[in-house]
Amino acid sequence: MEAGQSFLPGLIEACRAAIALNADRLCLLDEEIGDGDHGTNMRRGCDAVFAERDMLADLPLPQALERIGMTLVTSVGGASGPLYGTLLMELGRGLATDELGAGHSFPPALSRAVDAVARRGRSTAGEKTLLDVLYPVQAEVSMHSTLDGIRSEALAAAERTVAMKAGRGRAAFLGNRSIGHMDPGACSCALLTDAICRYLGELEGA
Ligand code: ADP
Ligand code: MG
Repeated sequence: MEAGQSFLPGLIEACRAAIALNADRLCLLDEEIGDGDHGTNMRRGCDAVFAERDMLADLPLPQALERIGMTLVTSVGGASGPLYGTLLMELGRGLATDELGAGHSFPPALSRAVDAVARRGRSTAGEKTLLDVLYPVQAEVSMHSTLDGIRSEALAAAERTVAMKAGRGRAAFLGNRSIGHMDPGACSCALLTDAICRYLGELEGA
């Protein structure tokens, strides 16, 4: 899908709304297997990006994504800030032009960005982290799946983290006791993917 820069403020607002609506749930999930701040962290990050939305809309998409990544690193904090920040910065660096979607530079850029997150977190798939949503999402994007296909896979992937034992992050200290809870980072990642796909779907239908 070709999309001009004018879509970015709306996309940012959609992400911010999804996180604001679910911030309490993300904190509760993080209370169960972490320190209870993931919803607060993500909300702070989304608010910081939202505050910059007009400036971001004036940038070419690759630079705007890089800038969003830097803002996330400085505003989200915790373990998730540098990871989400790395994702967006690498995505921006990998995108050739002002476009999102399959068939162009987006799928390989996303793939490299997810690999960069894994390197940054010294983590891999199956360790009950946001990577357990990012890898399946990246696979759907590479297969040129529909927006509905991508978002339903993201939500299903977050559900699959319930049965996993944490190998990284604070939850790893719990060992087997981390089993039976959804990973908060996987949950936020699925919520954001869902919001992004719904928003892009509305644009396509408009
Ligand atoms: P903190 O754990 O510092 O309180 P957050 O609560 O904001 O930070 O984020 C926790 C989430 O970050 C986890 O649910 C997990 O998805 C993700 N995470 C933590 N450490 C790693 C890691 N090493 N690799 C990948 N993801 C990680
Ligand atoms: Mg936390």
